[in-house]
Amino acid sequence: MCGSYGIFDEFYEAELAKGRQIHRRDYIIVTWPLKGNVYRGIVPESMARILVVADVHANLCALRAVLEDALCNGAIDAVWVLGDVVGYGPEPNECITLLNEHPLICVAGNHDLGVIGYVRLERFNVDAARACLWTRRHLSACSSRFLAGLPLRRSAGSFLLVHGSPRDPTWEYVTSESHARLLAPWCEQDHCLVGHTHRPLAARLETRTLRPGVGTSARALQLRERYMINPGSVGQPRDGDPRAAYVILNPEAATASFHRVSYDVGSVAEAVERSGLPLSLARRLHVGY
Ligand code: ZN
Repeated sequence: MCGSYGIFDEFYEAELAKGRQIHRRDYIIVTWPLKGNVYRGIVPESMARILVVADVHANLCALRAVLEDALCNGAIDAVWVLGDVVGYGPEPNECITLLNEHPLICVAGNHDLGVIGYVRLERFNVDAARACLWTRRHLSACSSRFLAGLPLRRSAGSFLLVHGSPRDPTWEYVTSESHARLLAPWCEQDHCLVGHTHRPLAARLETRTLRPGVGTSARALQLRERYMINPGSVGQPRDGDPRAAYVILNPEAATASFHRVSYDVGSVAEAVERSGLPLSLARRLHVGY
């Protein structure tokens, strides 16, 4: 259902009937499939406080910690997920269920596609392929349908959401600012949100000023120019910091703030070991690599 704009046309007509002229780019359409139904809503971009996460990788404990930490600092209008909800971790169905309790925009990552057989497992390393097969065996029919329905890219307001890169949403890793700048022509939107590397990144795409600074938080990145942003990984960070990573976007203030939150890594590592997933996937959680 992601990508359906019919709901916007209805909203547009209703607002027009009230004498209000609105513009599509000022609004974000969110969906949240819950208990067999797909709910859709429209959030004005100017009012949204958005939680952006990537690479959850079936780590429910880390995902819960991120949601709790983000909600501690204010209400969340939507959750944007940049792919790889599953793979590596022991609780894929629970992570999909928890995400779907929130207004959600989600794109597909290479692991999501590998698990449901949309990409060949030969492209993964041995442990990643074994984790895909494990996840495939444990995935519910409902979770499978959710993954099968994910698009490779979504635009939301002035943001493009992809897993890898705007050029290759499934496989390309964006590892540096210079690499990000090369990819700017593939992104029509002002900003691009990516995951896949499991490392936070904020790369200026060009130095053209988009808008005067109106941000209020000294800690937040001011989105006055075009940016490519990677929030880092929730469930398997690879930057040497084992804490779960996320970003809060505030389109009204034009800010993005990067956050880390601790969770019980030991209990998740034990659950990985008990589950029959490759042991290396448990060990790397402790060191954040
Ligand atoms: Zn990943």
